[in-house]
Amino acid sequence: MSKAKQKKEEKPVKIEKVAEDTGELIGKGIRKTWNVAKSFGKGLVDAVDKREEPKAALPLACQHCGASLPPKSKFCPCCGKKQ
Ligand SMILES: [Zn+2]
Repeated sequence: MSKAKQKKEEKPVKIEKVAEDTGELIGKGIRKTWNVAKSFGKGLVDAVDKREEPKAALPLACQHCGASLPPKSKFCPCCGKKQ
């Protein structure tokens, strides 16, 4: 009899602990997700930075008429052709 009563009293404590553990897990999960999102964002920024490097390294002379081009120009200011 007293055993059943003891079990009944333990239950709310257990639920509280489960809620605490769950909250902790969710908190940890959010932190982990945030870290993943942060590193993913950093990777994207790095990829964009790396992708822009070859653009700046474009030849500074027109492929069609040989005129000198301003950096990062897509069209020749002399003949107007796409580079
Ligand atoms: Zn040209």
